[in-house]
Amino acid sequence: MFKQLVLASSNAGKVAELQSLLADQGIEVLPQTQFGVPDADETGLSFIENAILKARHAAKLTGLPAIADDSGLAVHALGGAPGIYSARYAAMHSALQDGESKDAANIRFLLKQMAQHDDRRAEFHCVLALVQHAEDPVPLIAHGRWAGLITREAQGCGGFGYDPIFWLPELQKTSAELSKAEKSQLSHRGQALRLLLLAQLQA
Ligand code: IMP
Repeated sequence: MFKQLVLASSNAGKVAELQSLLADQGIEVLPQTQFGVPDADETGLSFIENAILKARHAAKLTGLPAIADDSGLAVHALGGAPGIYSARYAAMHSALQDGESKDAANIRFLLKQMAQHDDRRAEFHCVLALVQHAEDPVPLIAHGRWAGLITREAQGCGGFGYDPIFWLPELQKTSAELSKAEKSQLSHRGQALRLLLLAQLQA
């Protein structure tokens, strides 16, 4: 089992969640920013392709084993959008407003796209890829999926990204209203990480 892994992300929300999940396993996660590694271009057409290319990029530039997370929100009424473009949804549609954070712009833009839709079903997906080195021919892959509903307005201030509009009917809360422990128990990222650790133990 690894003692140290480079995390191929500069997304503070993801880094914090993965660091705390992996710390429980005694694995130290070093964000790639600590090594001056810039974000890789996400040119893949799936979460899987993007997770692998981000992990390879970080391993290549640091010489260390690397883990990458590619994740996003797939909304049924929008044909699976924003999907792999979740991080840049508003920017891609030139819908960023002055002084607004990326997360706030994405939420505002998604709620606007959903205004006329009664079908509010959505899923978060997370694919984790772990490579031992840049040319690793067998990246370990795990996929987690979390179903919920898109709210009509933002609620709660925990988490990151689309959490304030991701409603969990069984808990009557958004994912931004969960504690860190509750979110990691249920989330796409927590599920993917548990699967990855299981696969790693069996390897
Ligand atoms: P990427 O994997 O860096 O392309 O970005 C994934 C994007 O999906 C994030 O920037 C968020 O907008 C969204 N996302 C992924 N996971 C979560 C989550 O746990 N909560 C809220 N938004 C998320």
